[in-house]
Amino acid sequence: MHSIGAHIYDVATSRKLLTRNRLKYLDDKSCVLCNGAEESVHHLYFICPIARSIWNGIRDWLGLRKIMDSPTTVLNAFQGVYRGNSTLNMMRCAVLSATVYHVWNIKNGVMFDNAKPNVEEIIKAIKIHVFRCIPRSIDFFQPSTRSGLL
Ligand SMILES: [Zn+2]
Repeated sequence: MHSIGAHIYDVATSRKLLTRNRLKYLDDKSCVLCNGAEESVHHLYFICPIARSIWNGIRDWLGLRKIMDSPTTVLNAFQGVYRGNSTLNMMRCAVLSATVYHVWNIKNGVMFDNAKPNVEEIIKAIKIHVFRCIPRSIDFFQPSTRSGLL
């Protein structure tokens, strides 16, 4: 795994994120996305049906076939997919970080701004986020660059 992607992922799955199960002042610790189980990092990113739908959309977008339902399976899915091409390694890290960011973002949107999670819109936002990371010097329309992303 590329070190930057691994680092981003470590931050997301570390104990630093204040998920509801860690907020002592909250009586209701259920996940705000699905109103289901207690919101932990593991639930929010891998068990929650909303998160799973987002990962599935990202998986389909990238043409991956591996199941992504745990930290290990997500890292495995991303590992080696674009090995050997630094531009695409960068894109892989961007996809991973954007997905982690947008799951956290919609959780906060629901919690604080009464937002409604819309999986298709979130996946679209992730794609836009990733495409904005592409340096202008990279010719995205070269088939060799584009093949793993569309
Ligand atoms: Zn949930």
